[in-house]
Amino acid sequence: MGFELVAPRSPEEAFRLLEEGAGAASVLAGGTDLLFDLDRVTTAPRRVVSLRHLPWRGHAWQGDTLVVGSTEPLYELERDGSVAARLPGLHTAIRAVGSRALRHRATLGGNLARAAPASDLLPILLALDATVEIAGPAGTRRMELDRFLLASRTTALRPPELIRSVTVPAAPSVYLWQRVRPANDISQVGVAIAHPGPAVYRIAVGGIVPRPRRLPGAEAGLLSDPPPGPERVRAAEEAAREAPFPSDRRATEEHRRRVVRALVERGLVHLAGGAA
Ligand SMILES: Cc1cc2nc3c(=O)[nH]c(=O)nc-3n(C[C@H](O)[C@H](O)[C@H](O)COP(=O)(O)OP(=O)(O)OC[C@H]3O[C@@H](n4cnc5c(N)ncnc54)[C@H](O)[C@@H]3O)c2cc1C
Repeated sequence: MGFELVAPRSPEEAFRLLEEGAGAASVLAGGTDLLFDLDRVTTAPRRVVSLRHLPWRGHAWQGDTLVVGSTEPLYELERDGSVAARLPGLHTAIRAVGSRALRHRATLGGNLARAAPASDLLPILLALDATVEIAGPAGTRRMELDRFLLASRTTALRPPELIRSVTVPAAPSVYLWQRVRPANDISQVGVAIAHPGPAVYRIAVGGIVPRPRRLPGAEAGLLSDPPPGPERVRAAEEAAREAPFPSDRRATEEHRRRVVRALVERGLVHLAGGAA
């Protein structure tokens, strides 16, 4: 299986190389997903366009908002104390992704572009109301993550568009997940809760089809600050009812519902100052 590997130095060059590839070119960021895919496909891409030399690496705070370049390796966010302090849910979710070695390569942009139902990053980014900046030959556009994610492995990107950055408003937040083997497996379910203001709770869940999503029914019942026990229980029960859980080789639908119920309640207790 042979292909041409190119590493453009500007976004414009990247778009041109992708357009010339006319559907037969693949994008490479950290490669943790793509290299698996290349191993499996019967028809290899003719060209692989690496994003490594694009000026999109790095992250910075703009006031209360974290802006992350799409090619930033997850480990750079993990080791930044300000991310752990101001976006604790995102920090926990990042640490849930594979092993530390993997996180040295895996990028935030790659995780979003992949749009995997079991992603650990999508639920917390949905709960935090993240925005995606998309770059293409005609310029850039911004989109809420919730609109960017269309289905499993399907996003609103129109080739040769690329994700340029992700914007994440800081908020008290928590991410809780369940899986069998921490470094080698992906999550059966992941529950993210953000608490951006008084009596406002945003809950999102992963491990569901066709893609991670917010749970407005569960959120709507949380009216107090902090929510008392019965409110928390009702929200957790609604979350377990509301989400379309699949049964697959990782877990049954019934198991996922039970775990989500427990994790939503635990997450709310944690945000109210208790232990998760
Ligand atoms: C052993 C193993 C364990 C894993 N465990 C987890 C886990 O626990 N939780 C989890 O969420 N994920 C997990 N993953 C998945 C993976 O590590 C992430 O999805 C990773 O963040 C992808 O980023 P990348 O830079 O490696 O993407 P790549 O593999 O380079 O690219 C992935 C896809 O995104 C596209 N792409 C990449 N960057 C851009 C961009 N800027 N614009 C447009 N398209 C782009 C590529 O074309 C490709 O289709 C695991 C993977 C492996 C191999």
